[in-house]
Amino acid sequence: MESCWADRKTTKSPDLTHATLAKTITQPFLEIPMTCACSTAPTLIFPCSGGSDCGAVSDQAARKLTKDGVGKMYCLAGLGGDVAPIIANTKAAGKVLAIDGCNLDCAKKTLERVGVAVTAHVRMSDLGMEKGKTPANEANIVTVAAKGAALLAAGA
Ligand code: SF4
Repeated sequence: MESCWADRKTTKSPDLTHATLAKTITQPFLEIPMTCACSTAPTLIFPCSGGSDCGAVSDQAARKLTKDGVGKMYCLAGLGGDVAPIIANTKAAGKVLAIDGCNLDCAKKTLERVGVAVTAHVRMSDLGMEKGKTPANEANIVTVAAKGAALLAAGA
């Protein structure tokens, strides 16, 4: 693994100009793959990723949707932390899917707090899934992912 510049035995100082730092910091956030050749904006997916079993299912469903090419799981914590590049990229998304494990709607509310209206919202408790009774197994993950994909396809 490459060490950081401070660990390297060199007399050359790193380029810490504002322009270089800004490029370094913002570039990773901009590498969001497009999901549709006719669209210029990506579909972003935000699971609540809560500590409960339902939170785990929401997280795994978002990862499955990303793997299946439906959209790209993105960083809900970045919105909660007011991380400017993540908020900007989210506002530039073509569609936004929120997946919440229960009716507290943490993902949807976090998006709305920074001014992002969700295109589609999966609330797992509306699918009959209860916290403490919903293991993060294949069946539950597929059910939630399928609901999210269907809502996105319907544009709702
Ligand atoms: S929506 Fe429910 S399961 Fe998800 S983080 Fe919030 S309280 Fe936890």
